[in-house]
Amino acid sequence: MKLFLAGLLAENNSYSPIPTGLGAFEAEGIRRGAASAVDPGGYLSAIEAVRLVASSQGWEVTEGLFAAAVPLGPIRQLVYEQLRDELLDDLRAALPVQAVMLMLHGAMTAEDCLDCEGDLLERARAIVGPHVPIGVELDLHGHVTHRMTLNATLMVAYKAYPHTDIDERAAEVAQLTIDTAERRIRPVTAVWDCRMAGSWPTTREPLKSFVRELQALEGHHGVVSVSHTHGFAFGDVPEAGARLWVITDGDEALATRLASDLGRRLWALRDALHQPALDMDAAMRRVAELPPLPGAGPIVVADLADNPGGGARGDSSFALQAVLSRGIPNVAIGGLWDPGAVQLCFEAGLGSVLALRVAGKSGPMSGHPVDLRVTVRALLEDHAQTAFGSRSPLGASAWVSTAEGVDLVLISRCQQVIGIDLFTGLGIDLSSKHAVVVKSMQHFHAAFAPLAREVLYADSPGLLTADIAALPIRHRDPNFWPRVADPWSGMLS
Ligand SMILES: [Zn+2]
Repeated sequence: MKLFLAGLLAENNSYSPIPTGLGAFEAEGIRRGAASAVDPGGYLSAIEAVRLVASSQGWEVTEGLFAAAVPLGPIRQLVYEQLRDELLDDLRAALPVQAVMLMLHGAMTAEDCLDCEGDLLERARAIVGPHVPIGVELDLHGHVTHRMTLNATLMVAYKAYPHTDIDERAAEVAQLTIDTAERRIRPVTAVWDCRMAGSWPTTREPLKSFVRELQALEGHHGVVSVSHTHGFAFGDVPEAGARLWVITDGDEALATRLASDLGRRLWALRDALHQPALDMDAAMRRVAELPPLPGAGPIVVADLADNPGGGARGDSSFALQAVLSRGIPNVAIGGLWDPGAVQLCFEAGLGSVLALRVAGKSGPMSGHPVDLRVTVRALLEDHAQTAFGSRSPLGASAWVSTAEGVDLVLISRCQQVIGIDLFTGLGIDLSSKHAVVVKSMQHFHAAFAPLAREVLYADSPGLLTADIAALPIRHRDPNFWPRVADPWSGMLS
């Protein structure tokens, strides 16, 4: 018995002016064939989990294309079609297969395609026919469309945000797909549109308990799997937004009833799910007002609107300006994407003092550049951060500091902050810092919260502003919360 396994992952921000080209995939590494067995880093660690499940049951795994891109604007149409067709050619070459598993995101769009996952799944279904199960692993920030539901046999989303359970969910999808192929289960899916949008950490209550409750339902009384996705608020597509879906073993009525009940529960929690964000000035006022407390750890400030994990460039200057204007000492800020500034630091050399223009270069949403006089404290040709068991390359990087005590980590590869070694790898001692500003919305939390004196979420005019209700929309149904107070118009009491 053979399982075909492949992945194509991108989260495309409709508001980013920078298109996703082939380079964005190449930067993350395009893996072909069994390359993952040789270099199983990054998201490919989930493949190991799948192989383990399959081999323990005598299944062979044939790997097709694996490609993932850093979040930017929609994918160039030709690039999307090239990668999609390569993956589908791999599937054709692997035939006959008894099961297919795809690792996808859910919020992938190309210039002429607003539902890439639906498109890909429809084509995969046409290749394998109606009887071969297709199992899909999705990101918690994916969208779930009718076309996806129609063509996939079963879909399971990450349950954790930060996404600490990718491998676990991959193993689960593999098992359920094999169970379906071996006719132990007959998955039936019902999807509930929650008519809401947001990005809600599962590290906070009440979502933490709600997710635990969803998991407790699985494997009992005919319930196979329960997933919820938040959608991607910056993906302007017709079927955007949060969904909750239930997969049962052949019981459509149960799936429908449970999806509706749990979806309504999630809707009822909407106000409490929200992670309150301060505006950047208010956040920095708090940082300035809190007295130093040796041994307490730094105040961690998430610069959420400039999160490269959602399509921003990580080079906005709003946080830096706020720190400088208030004269707050002993603050570290990173990773600021500024390859030009890094190059100048390398040319000047370690220990040099130089005038450096940093940040605010990628567009109006990054604010104005800032001119500083800095000392080059550390240089690394090939810097990286580590989190969730994987290494995320940052390219040539520099630690520079101002005489006023502001430390900046400048990086050449645009990445959101996920690991503390983004700072410590260059020699910055985070425990001695009064505050640390991270270019991240939530994924920083797993590594930084344990050492933080306090975590603040700060909003600014960047690309991923917290004010999602005000985003201009062209494609999605405007009838969603928080844009509309009651999108149900009396349907729910
Ligand atoms: Zn995500």
